[in-house]
Amino acid sequence: MSLEAFVQKQILGSYVGGEHLLHGEESPLVSPLTGRPWRSVSAITQDQVQRAITSSEEAYHSWKKVPAPERATYLRKMGDLILEHKALFANTMAHEMGKTVREGEGEAHYAAGYFHWFAGEAERIYGQTIPSQYPHKTLLVQKDPIGVCAAITPWNFPIGIPARKIAPALAAGCSILCKPSPECPLSMLMLAFLAEEAGLPPGLFNVLIGDEIIIGQALTTSPKVRKLSFTGICEVGRLLYRQSAETLKKLTLELGGHAPTLIFDDADLDKAVEGLLQGKLRNSGQTCVSPNRVYVQRSIQETFTERLIERLKALSIGDPLDPKTDLSEVLHPTSVEKIKIHLEDALSKGAEEIYSHPTVLTNITKEMLICQEETFGPVIPLIPFDRDEEGIALANDSPYGLAAYVFTESLQRARVVSQELHYGVIGLNDGVPSTPQAPFGGMRDSGFGRVGGPSGIEEYLVEKFISIG
Ligand code: NAD
Repeated sequence: MSLEAFVQKQILGSYVGGEHLLHGEESPLVSPLTGRPWRSVSAITQDQVQRAITSSEEAYHSWKKVPAPERATYLRKMGDLILEHKALFANTMAHEMGKTVREGEGEAHYAAGYFHWFAGEAERIYGQTIPSQYPHKTLLVQKDPIGVCAAITPWNFPIGIPARKIAPALAAGCSILCKPSPECPLSMLMLAFLAEEAGLPPGLFNVLIGDEIIIGQALTTSPKVRKLSFTGICEVGRLLYRQSAETLKKLTLELGGHAPTLIFDDADLDKAVEGLLQGKLRNSGQTCVSPNRVYVQRSIQETFTERLIERLKALSIGDPLDPKTDLSEVLHPTSVEKIKIHLEDALSKGAEEIYSHPTVLTNITKEMLICQEETFGPVIPLIPFDRDEEGIALANDSPYGLAAYVFTESLQRARVVSQELHYGVIGLNDGVPSTPQAPFGGMRDSGFGRVGGPSGIEEYLVEKFISIG
């Protein structure tokens, strides 16, 4: 069967040990694009989740013995297959969560990039020999795969975020059980279909579709699962952290953010507007690294605002299936509701809407929800600042610590500000810093652990020290 034929399947069920489980309790999957049910979802049972964990364990014991260069070949093939089918992925994601097809194809490149990057990293899992204080001893350190891994992923990047977890796990020699968001099961199943086509053995990458509480409980409490990588909201991250405590799992938590953007008076304003909008409008503002607070140095505020609005007027907003669309309407019901609440709250507390669709607000105060919680939508609050130290303090005034952006042409300012910001990712004159080749992740309430980059594979490895006497 081709992937084109596979995506036509009307009932979507879990994929475990190379088999699709299609006889569970069925519920409709509604497309936010059309507002109508477009597939049915068959839920996995508690027993089947346990069987899936066993299947992953069996697959892990064989896979860890496969030589790294061979594992790399499968991963490279998987990346190539994602690229080959990027248009199909883009179309599916547009139906699942309303992303524009242009961005969906970009996400396919991003996802493929993780498979290609970690194919290389699989071959670079080096150990160490360490000189001993005793002449008769040799000290070796080797890095072993951590074991069976689990991934729980959100709806905003249906293949990009799973790829950041699946690729390093497989590269390290682990197996992985993935629970997609309820909105996006088909994208995840498409990845599993391509994994099979790439020649990866059954059971190595299992997909669990169904009740999040049942699946979450089983994955976090199973002693067989040694690692959980979660991406989603902070509250759920904390809950899964607590649930995983009993079995002492290694965790990666990629949680929410509240990214500040600092635009200094010496910034190249065209670059700053472009960078801000690249970050802000990607996925219609529904990203964890979306600029939520935009601090503009007072002396350039007027000019910057004029250029920003000029640029917003040129955007093409509308149908996500049209490749010319820059920005699709926000379709996810939670995002729609949150944006409404944030706007009403800001306007009731004195904010002024100076442009709408996408919305630009001024007269912002710290008490507004928009300054405290991620809005997850195309809303740009502009806040003036005077001295550099004030701007840095405002930017750092948040419990979150995922991404921050800085626009300046001064090397000295760039150096000082990047040092002072308490964020895991800094975009310096760059609105889209996330890339497979670099470590990405948060601090404080935005979680811990890194995806991508030279350290990304470490999350799926465990050091073993062998002392030879
Ligand atoms: P969410 O936390 O509601 O859901 C994420 C996943 O967790 C889904 O698969 C969901 O079914 C599952 N889940 C929810 N409750 C669960 C439970 N009790 N047990 C087990 N699983 C459970 O998040 P969302 O709305 O899908 O995603 C948006 C959030 O993700 C935003 O806060 C965004 O900032 C964050 N995010 C962070 C990053 C990052 O890199 N830090 C990247 C993308 C998104």
